[in-house]
Amino acid sequence: METKTAPRIIETALQKQPELARHFGAVVQAGELSHAYLFSGATGRGKLAVSQLVAMSLFCAHPDPAGLACGHCNECDRIANGEHPDVLTLKPDGQSIKIDQVRQLKREFSKSAVEGKQKVFIIDAADTMTVAAANSLLKVIEEPTATVTAILLTTDYHHMLPTIRSRTQLVEFPPIQAAELIRYLQAQQVSATDITLALKITNDTDELDQLVTDHWLSKMKQQLETWFTWLKQGDAQAFPFIQTNVLPLVKDRFSQNVTITMICLLFQDLFDVKFRALPAPKLAFGDVYDLLKSAADQLSDEQIVSMINDILTTAQQQQVNVGFQSILEVITLQCLATIN
Ligand SMILES: [Zn+2]
Repeated sequence: METKTAPRIIETALQKQPELARHFGAVVQAGELSHAYLFSGATGRGKLAVSQLVAMSLFCAHPDPAGLACGHCNECDRIANGEHPDVLTLKPDGQSIKIDQVRQLKREFSKSAVEGKQKVFIIDAADTMTVAAANSLLKVIEEPTATVTAILLTTDYHHMLPTIRSRTQLVEFPPIQAAELIRYLQAQQVSATDITLALKITNDTDELDQLVTDHWLSKMKQQLETWFTWLKQGDAQAFPFIQTNVLPLVKDRFSQNVTITMICLLFQDLFDVKFRALPAPKLAFGDVYDLLKSAADQLSDEQIVSMINDILTTAQQQQVNVGFQSILEVITLQCLATIN
């Protein structure tokens, strides 16, 4: 992960959540920030960036006319680097946020109350607070002081204790607009066909980043297209190809899941060309439309349906921890058996 500089944080917040970012700029400017917020939304929707932007806008030496942080002053810079004494971020220590961490936070709370100093507390993954930690934090939220703002971040506010939920202002982070995601990927020089495929796999920007890093998606796409070409010809080379060309690209659980998803999308395309006559732009693998069309013409309805059933059934076994390599090999053997 690259270090997030202040301008990059502002850009991320405005890119992912333009409305919320501008809303908070206006709120800060009007001096109407609440004492406790609960930011809720799936990973990658910009919760941390927006909370940092709120803090930066509050302390910034030269906010813009809309109340948003400049991103270039000393205050913005120190907040972005986690070095600002009045902006504290709490993260899980291991699996959870523990009561000792909250106690330390509370000491800071009471200090600032005495000094009358503005402070912002950002609690990341707030749903990982132990019950003791959450109850301890409640005390602080129940006795609001004008100079303290707490921002709790969670992927799902239903995971928060009702007592916390009832004492914080809920801000739901909506999914990022498809047009924004396309612009985001275009800015990273991702090709149009790869963008189409990527957005069929995920709309989480963190996951999209992983997909396009080092052109991973392009490389895997090429290998799967070659694998599919062997399969279509009923050529047994498809089997060793898994080990020599596909597996070297799979390095973690995420890339395992994506590889399976890509295989499912590839066969979904085959189905859509055969039965729904979908054109190339509607397909995940539209750039190999000719290959898909020729496979669709060559294979019978029953063969295609049977392969898709086999793939879905075998892919599900990944949940019960069947080795990834054997799943791909079983899929390959099943397809070869159906084709030959
Ligand atoms: Zn600034």
